[in-house]
Amino acid sequence: MNRIYLDNAATTAVAPEVLEVMLPYFTECFGNPSSIHSTGRDARRAIDAARKQVAAAINCQPNEVYFTAGGSESDNWAIKGAALARKNKGNHIITSSIEHHAVLHTCQWLEKQGFEVTYLPVDADGQVSVADVEKAITDKTILITIMAANNEIGTIQPIAEIGKLAKSKGVLFHTDAVQAVGAIPIDVAAIGCDMLSLSGHKFHGPKGVGALYIRKGLRLEHLIEGGAQERGQRAGTENLASIVGLGKAIELAAANLEANAARMTALRDKLIEGIMARIPDVKLNGHRTNRLPNNVNVSVRYVEGEALLLRLDLAGVAGSSGSACTSGSLDPSHVLLAIGLPHEIAHGSLRLTLGNETTEADIDYVLDKLPGIVSDLRAMSVLNEFTTTVGGTCPIKTVE
Ligand SMILES: *Cc1c(COP(=O)(O)O)cnc(C)c1O
Repeated sequence: MNRIYLDNAATTAVAPEVLEVMLPYFTECFGNPSSIHSTGRDARRAIDAARKQVAAAINCQPNEVYFTAGGSESDNWAIKGAALARKNKGNHIITSSIEHHAVLHTCQWLEKQGFEVTYLPVDADGQVSVADVEKAITDKTILITIMAANNEIGTIQPIAEIGKLAKSKGVLFHTDAVQAVGAIPIDVAAIGCDMLSLSGHKFHGPKGVGALYIRKGLRLEHLIEGGAQERGQRAGTENLASIVGLGKAIELAAANLEANAARMTALRDKLIEGIMARIPDVKLNGHRTNRLPNNVNVSVRYVEGEALLLRLDLAGVAGSSGSACTSGSLDPSHVLLAIGLPHEIAHGSLRLTLGNETTEADIDYVLDKLPGIVSDLRAMSVLNEFTTTVGGTCPIKTVE
């Protein structure tokens, strides 16, 4: 069966052009970039080139780019590193309630170390209010960390306004732009952020490699001690091939950004409108227009997200759900709860995220299959209009 992959918010396929430039760095150009000999110097040059590619894509200087092991490390480093470096100035951090767990759990860890964290609410579209950010700032506030775009519902945050506010108050501003980089224009100078996280595997680069932009002159505590790699700020022999791949992937994403965004927005809207027109009792989650070009997230009433995913999988379609029952948690997504969905509706959510390979035929296929799957599941479901309240438990009661 021809598989249709619509889970690009979770990860993307490495682009063929990216894989091609990576391959020599596993074999003939395998040197340690810290070595003096020419094999080492070749590796160093490749890393320098990748750093320039990242800098060009986000509009900063190459020496403001630090390679990491991915989005999670970049978020941890930015938040812990800034908090610990500024702890003599204050202990208060502001974030939102819909951040990725790499941010939320890092903030929770800092709370255990004596920091205080404000988790701002969002509106029904998933947007943070700049006025709320301003009201939350106290003379103890040292850091604001708000994501550029949400990984579940795709909503884009007003980060340039938050950046301006943070600057005017003398507070550091970090943004988790892992979903945004490669999808929408990201310019660190225009945003006015002090730190920005990105991750290779979210824009058709390899997994396990990312970068943290750190504004020139800003010193963070280190997360990883050891050798003098990354100008003494992040130890460990560089993930050479993956860094080369990340550089190529971000260059490609930046070069094709407008065309890809236009194409994907059209497909996204076709999918949203098609679902709304063909399936009753469906709600779009996230902002209708101010959302990532590749993100569709809907709540399908009276249906379990997992059941929907399994049926879609059997039909050859890979999607994802905001409900985390099968991954060991009884609670539905913190993001869907934060936008005000009741538990039973949050459980029936479906996220379909498009990638560079997604075609219009893929969207037509999903629009063809999904209505039948939903009506089958609804016919079998006990989650009908007579039993809508299921509370905080994970009610996989659909009989299959
Ligand atoms: C995927 C993701 C991360 C984590 O990135 P990894 O490279 O997988 O560690 C962090 N934040 C957001 C918004 C993400 O989508």
